[in-house]
Amino acid sequence: MTSPASADGLSDYAPIPRSVLGPAVNEQGYYVGRVERNLYWVTDGVYQAAFLTTPDGVVLFDAPPTIGHNLRRAIDEIAAAEGVTNKVTHMVYSHHHDDHTAASSIFGSDVVRIGHEETRRLLLRANNPARPAPDVTFADSYTLQVGGERVELAWHGPNHSPDNIYIHFPDHDAVMFIDVVNGGWVPIYNLNLSDDVPGYMAAPATLLSYPWTHFISGHMGRLSTRDDVAVHQQYIADIEASAKEALASVNPVPYYVAGGENFWAGVKGHLDAVTERAYAPIVAKYTGVLAAADVEELTYTTTFTIMQSLRLDSGPSGPVHP
Ligand SMILES: [Zn+2]
Repeated sequence: MTSPASADGLSDYAPIPRSVLGPAVNEQGYYVGRVERNLYWVTDGVYQAAFLTTPDGVVLFDAPPTIGHNLRRAIDEIAAAEGVTNKVTHMVYSHHHDDHTAASSIFGSDVVRIGHEETRRLLLRANNPARPAPDVTFADSYTLQVGGERVELAWHGPNHSPDNIYIHFPDHDAVMFIDVVNGGWVPIYNLNLSDDVPGYMAAPATLLSYPWTHFISGHMGRLSTRDDVAVHQQYIADIEASAKEALASVNPVPYYVAGGENFWAGVKGHLDAVTERAYAPIVAKYTGVLAAADVEELTYTTTFTIMQSLRLDSGPSGPVHP
């Protein structure tokens, strides 16, 4: 599918700092490590899941298909080493997206699946047997208690997706919150492919309002930290400020004049000019700070997304006709 031409130049970007790459994966392509006590995380270097071992069964958090059957291997490995059951009895969905759920059915139908009520609706709509809808749902919060362990699930509004929840492990000094902060890396296209832009931009502050030291962000090869969240917040705040400045300073009139009857050509000229002006200083500032900041399309499209939200969610979208 990939033409040779499209792969040209992909090795020309700045090297990825060792500090954002995690431990090496094993022969099967996964790494499993302890977060704290009986809470573990699994990665294939790009995606992350987590699980809790208890005397009554294992609770699995997300099932990314890229890790797939290695989730089973990772759980078996730890259960054998710790002398506890490897039976997965519960599974929590962070949100409905396929790339974090599509290995769910590996664990069979005899598992209690838990998620936000919107996750259930969206999984029923997707109608994919690989991603069974949760049986147990909640609207605002849910305390999961299994084998003497406690996990607090909470929904604080839409952000990356309509149903993305905060998974807090109060007795493990840890939190899991997916697809908003990619510790040490820039978000991918369009603000990490997010639905609700103001919700996405506000989410890191909510995340930091919880007490935790270890952060399972769902992506890349290492656990994240509170410092990672702070750098991400600064990156987003810098884009917001830069987009505001560009919206205020780029004169749209010449673009609409040049577009003539083709109003959409004028829109393109104007919004491209605003985005160009806004994103360039961000790429310069964050290259060497956040991995892949020099993959310019990512910051460009994220800047465009935030700029549109400033116009349409926050307003004003433009002057009111006199
Ligand atoms: Zn997602």
